[in-house]
Amino acid sequence: PDTSLSAELQARMRDVPDFPRPGIVFKDITPVLADPVLFPRLIQALAEPFRDQRITKVVGVEARGFILGAPVALALNAGFVPARKPGKLPSRTVTERYALEYGTDALEMHQDAVLRGERTLIVDDVLATGGTAEATAKLIAQVGGELVGFSFLIALGFLDGVKRLGAHHVHRLITL
Ligand code: AMP
Repeated sequence: PDTSLSAELQARMRDVPDFPRPGIVFKDITPVLADPVLFPRLIQALAEPFRDQRITKVVGVEARGFILGAPVALALNAGFVPARKPGKLPSRTVTERYALEYGTDALEMHQDAVLRGERTLIVDDVLATGGTAEATAKLIAQVGGELVGFSFLIALGFLDGVKRLGAHHVHRLITL
């Protein structure tokens, strides 16, 4: 990726220690979103490697994946699909449970949102353990979509997270 853009993005993000729990350093991307020049550059950079990939659906993970994924979908002339926490989507859904450090969580997607064989990209802000991204990939697999890759603003402890994502293209602008 464009190293000067990566440096500018990194300079505009905030590290918030002990949020939402002690021991977590939260990557706060809201200053980047609030910047009218940096935000569109970020979106173009997330979309860039996938421009010639005939992507027709972008799946964004609640909640910051919505903010990044919807404009990436526009940049790729694709549709946008939300992957949400349980109980939020009103129509028929597919569900994937995944392990957290303490306990489990789940993600849902509308069953008819990604069609069989549709070339699909997953977008989120942060890749950490990869559990969220892996669960999202499994939602797409459940409905028969063709996962092309992932696009993240930040990858933390990249090798651990990416190991769970198989052979797919894992694009990230900042690796920490
Ligand atoms: P994981 O499933 O461990 O890869 O975590 C990824 C999900 O948790 C993404 O949806 C991120 O938005 C969020 N997340 C994980 N770690 C952080 C962090 N340090 N700062 C901000 N968000 C995070």
